Amino acid sequence: MKVIRTISEIRTEMRNAQSNHNNKVGLVPTMGYLHEGHASLMREARKQTDVVVVSIFVNPIQFGPGEDYETYPRNEAHDLALAEAEGVDIVFMPSVSEMYPTPTKTKISVSDITTLLCGASRPGHFDGVTTVVSKLFHIVKPDYAFFGMKDAQQVAVIEQMVRDLNMDVKIVPCPIIREADGLALSSRNVYLSPEERQQALVLSASLRAAQSAVLQGQLTTATEIRALLQEQITSSPLAEIDYVELLHFPELTPLEAAHRIVEGDSLIMALAVKFGRTRLIDNALLQLQKVGDSHV
Ligand code: AMP
Repeated sequence: MKVIRTISEIRTEMRNAQSNHNNKVGLVPTMGYLHEGHASLMREARKQTDVVVVSIFVNPIQFGPGEDYETYPRNEAHDLALAEAEGVDIVFMPSVSEMYPTPTKTKISVSDITTLLCGASRPGHFDGVTTVVSKLFHIVKPDYAFFGMKDAQQVAVIEQMVRDLNMDVKIVPCPIIREADGLALSSRNVYLSPEERQQALVLSASLRAAQSAVLQGQLTTATEIRALLQEQITSSPLAEIDYVELLHFPELTPLEAAHRIVEGDSLIMALAVKFGRTRLIDNALLQLQKVGDSHV
């Protein structure tokens, strides 16, 4: 596995890799402090592509003032060992000055779908994400890029950017990886106290409860689904809700209050909840297809 820290070196490396035109390049962009969620993306990349590149870069421009950029967890040795164990070919770990040698005057900004959910509570966050991801696409020139559905809005935003700007890369969304007790893996879970971590289980539990209530026909409107999620989450004393939303996916358009869930709907239940100073996100899709007489 090669560890590369400069843009000029990785460009040379990628030119060599792509001199064989049959080679497909897969990119897994990350901010490091790698866990099983990141590993699952690397495995998918390993399956689908010939040259697997993982980028590790805590991107300052996607953090707002007062957010956790300085304290974001980092562990280079652990990250390199994990990537190596997953059979990654190249780890690209640029410094901030390598990626942003001068203050940026150009940014990539996707409109509309970036101003709701996480975009509402983190203004400018998605401009930072789309700008760095498009820089990485220009530097690495991947054929495929792998993203986790843990950040479902990010997947929708990046797919929109790729479509709008005719970027020649296929986005591959990958499923959310969870702990055995349901907590979605996140680098930020290390911030949680044992009590906060226990109460944070309400996120996945409420999503599961809503999913099964919808599938069994007990909840039929958007209002009822939101109410169930709200009620379950607020039963945890440490939970402070940022948002509880139900939207069309991947369009991220709102549902009418009285929207009745029907076959063919593709919806997302999206949550952001703070436990102490740690803001966690989680989500689940509600995709209703008729199979025989039952909903799945
Ligand atoms: P991050 O390092 O948090 O920026 O995440 C890098 C990539 O890993 C993003 O595409 C995330 O959506 C994905 N990811 C993070 N946590 C998980 C998880 N629990 N399951 C699946 N993918 C994840």
